[in-house]
Amino acid sequence: MEIAIQVHPHDVRDEGAETVVSNVAQRAGIRTIIAETGTLEERHPYPKGELEHNPIHNVVITNAFFEVPGSNSWFAGLPFRPVLSPEASQGQDYIEDLRAVAPKYGAEIMPWVKALNGAFAGEVEQVCVRTFSGDLIRTWLCPNNPLTESYVKNLVFGILEQYPSRAILVDRLRYPDWSGATVSIERMLTCFCPHCQSRMDVSGIDVDRLSELLQAFIQDPQLLLGWMSQQGPELEVLQAWFVFRNKSITSLAAKLWEAMQAWRQKQGTQTEYWLNLWPPSFAPLLGQDYPSLGQLCEGAKHFPYHKLGGGADLAAFVQALAGQGSKVGQEWIFGKVASLLKLGKLTYDEYRTCGLPVSFVADQTQWGKDAFGKNKIFTGIQIWDIPEEEIEHTIRSAIEGQADGLFFYCYGWATLGALDQVGQFLQNKER
Ligand SMILES: [Zn+2]
Repeated sequence: MEIAIQVHPHDVRDEGAETVVSNVAQRAGIRTIIAETGTLEERHPYPKGELEHNPIHNVVITNAFFEVPGSNSWFAGLPFRPVLSPEASQGQDYIEDLRAVAPKYGAEIMPWVKALNGAFAGEVEQVCVRTFSGDLIRTWLCPNNPLTESYVKNLVFGILEQYPSRAILVDRLRYPDWSGATVSIERMLTCFCPHCQSRMDVSGIDVDRLSELLQAFIQDPQLLLGWMSQQGPELEVLQAWFVFRNKSITSLAAKLWEAMQAWRQKQGTQTEYWLNLWPPSFAPLLGQDYPSLGQLCEGAKHFPYHKLGGGADLAAFVQALAGQGSKVGQEWIFGKVASLLKLGKLTYDEYRTCGLPVSFVADQTQWGKDAFGKNKIFTGIQIWDIPEEEIEHTIRSAIEGQADGLFFYCYGWATLGALDQVGQFLQNKER
């Protein structure tokens, strides 16, 4: 079974590589550390709380910067490139710092790459996704733009050559969701760039009609339920669009998978290629089709962080749709979303107080396994913002769902007590 934990750059800068690796190896008993090569626009920890063992910061806000110094040349042939963090611009390489310390603790470091999401410099407006009203989302590349394919290949193979590793974790191979620097439903209704519009035309989607429907939905989210129950032409257009999005991501994933196999052959290595996916109930809404993607990697981590609503921050989604003030509206929207996503019977109030039940972890893991066939499903285990004694239930739930691995999330957001809990569980499991 794969056992891993994910770390962010500020964990290592603020605590020092030695402290991080020693806590991970000695307290949590974990030997695989997955290090972020680029951050997201995100509050750490998310969405609330404090970094309890960080000696310098209580809270860190990151900006989707890239963390690999000297990487600008990887993107020399493209009109845009990722923006380096101030530390990486000065030549600091926190991943190399981890790699230097890891052997002393019998640990290994793996890179965690964000494929389509990042802060970019240069002419990214040609390549980034657009909402139906034409707004550019500059931090997200369109999967159908030919330059995106070239960017992601340069990124993945640049990183693999910089940090040779037993496996690589490729994240954010999907469309934007509703969270980012701010919460926005419109942000998840992409992409309407010229490439996508002409491809949608070819696949028979009436782009003008689709834009009208999305505009109407934004103004009155309840319309969606009417369209769903009528099973009429509105629903057909929307379904065709979701299929189009899934195929767009699958097609890019297939090109990467092919390139990965060629790269391995050329290098004579066996580096495994893993994807980071949304839990199966949410994934198709973001362009991720499990049965197809299961053929295009050796394994995938999904993140059914139940306290947060499947890693998806459902509360933010419900409030954005129903409005902050409308309790009745929030309850109603939540009920519809929960039934759509097969989350079980649960009121919004119950969800706000307790999150999703732990059984969500087993259900989603099993669902992923069924879709992936012989390939592996690793389950993200939430170890922050939950009672320490619930960590063991969560691990057991993942195992019940047939998980091939446990990826603990994440080092900096968890308390040291939570790391100790993980360590105790893993030690008892070995006996
Ligand atoms: Zn596009």
